[in-house]
Amino acid sequence: MAKKKKMNKQKAKKKVVKKTAPKKRAVFVAKKMPVAEKKPVIAPAVGEQKPTGAEEGDAPQKHSGLQALRGMKDILPKEDQYWYALLDHAIRLAQFYEFGWIQTPLLEDARLYTRSIGKGTDIVEKEMYVFEDRDMERVALRPEGTAGVVRAYIQHGMLNLPQPVKMWYFASMFRHERPQKGRYREHHQIGFEVFGDPSPSADAQLIAIAYTLLSDLGISVEVRINSIGMPDERARYIMELTGYYRAKRSYLCEDCKKRLNRNPLRLLDCKEEGCKPLRDEAPQIVDWLSEPSKKFFMELLEDLDELQVPYSLDPFLVRGLDYYSHTVFEFYTKEQDAETAQSALGGGGRYDLLVEQLGGRPTPAVGFGVGMERIVTELKKRPDEFAQKPPTVFLAHLGQGARRKALRLLQDLHAEGMRVGFNLAKTSLKAQLDIADKQKVLYTLILGQKEMMDGTIIVRDMESGAQEIVDVTKIVPFLKKKL
Ligand code: AMP
Repeated sequence: MAKKKKMNKQKAKKKVVKKTAPKKRAVFVAKKMPVAEKKPVIAPAVGEQKPTGAEEGDAPQKHSGLQALRGMKDILPKEDQYWYALLDHAIRLAQFYEFGWIQTPLLEDARLYTRSIGKGTDIVEKEMYVFEDRDMERVALRPEGTAGVVRAYIQHGMLNLPQPVKMWYFASMFRHERPQKGRYREHHQIGFEVFGDPSPSADAQLIAIAYTLLSDLGISVEVRINSIGMPDERARYIMELTGYYRAKRSYLCEDCKKRLNRNPLRLLDCKEEGCKPLRDEAPQIVDWLSEPSKKFFMELLEDLDELQVPYSLDPFLVRGLDYYSHTVFEFYTKEQDAETAQSALGGGGRYDLLVEQLGGRPTPAVGFGVGMERIVTELKKRPDEFAQKPPTVFLAHLGQGARRKALRLLQDLHAEGMRVGFNLAKTSLKAQLDIADKQKVLYTLILGQKEMMDGTIIVRDMESGAQEIVDVTKIVPFLKKKL
């Protein structure tokens, strides 16, 4: 009865299609280069507004040497606190939910991706970096994380381990897409995958893990979810869908006309304004699901209710890869501006047939991947929350001998778990005290020639300016008492 009620709830919801703001077209403005920039070794593409996926607020680049490739960007130390926070949360979740860390090679046999992601998909057809290596092997840079993990699962006989086998990764992905905000040619994903668990609870737990990861980082997200059933159910649905769109062919955008023959499901993904109203009236896959598929989906939704993960049913969510069956889901921020309205923070789904398709024993599996750059962009909106705490103690040295002693003392302080600021490149005491002031430390340790000879160190209280001389062998307990 409860399930029936849920199904009705779903049917009622299915007509409620979220209106998403129109996609803002990226405007590329030809930029007049200053003379010094006219002959870069690698010229920026004509009309490119900013080189190499630079972001708002990045300082303009003024050099004429080699640059990162278009759509690829350096992740600089100034943003490390966001990446650390994200990885730290992911590691803690992985440890609690017993996911082992896996790192697969960046370069794989290109067939791994054509066989798994699917030939008619944008990733394989347009975006994959494929080339022949020096042995004339056709290889590809990893465009997504799941296929490589599946290959490793099969190759290392993990089917013989107690199931489920749970693995997580963080890795860079390469897709030759048109660079724009939040879309790079190299990006990073954190992914979690579960093998050998056929129950909808595995899907629910994974969705909850991704949801927790994002919400613990202070990002309020919305989970959109759908079921695309098994291939035979999908095949019948696709026939219906194709018939529906054929009758409306003249209204479709050029891309969709091609999709009609090659990959009709992707018609539902089209963001063109002209195509959207057609989608709203299109047949919905839920009406083509078998009873077992519906049951699976209903149980998953009930698990999510129990976990109090808020979701909305999205009958047109199909995801761009061929290997999914049953569940597909995506994560979006709740507060979206027009530009991010179309960009998911992550997504995933069940892929029960993929292990067998790639040569393993039939093994149910499910996983998700979240885009690290897009999450970091969200975190950067709240810099104060992620600012690293500066050290409370600074170590200053005066003279070469003292610098050597300072080196050693830093090592000892590190071993005691203390965080200490220092700058061994500066020689003047004044310069070092200025840094200590800027870091707002409570105490500065000063090591000069005299202290070295005496085996002592000066401890300066930065607020009062009072100084004490302390036996250097007792400095750790002394500081621990003070702090
Ligand atoms: P996908 O496998 O395409 O669903 O990607 C998973 C997640 O990775 C997406 O939801 C995005 O957050 C992120 N992502 C995918 N492609 C890109 C890209 N080109 N640039 C930046 N992030 C991306």
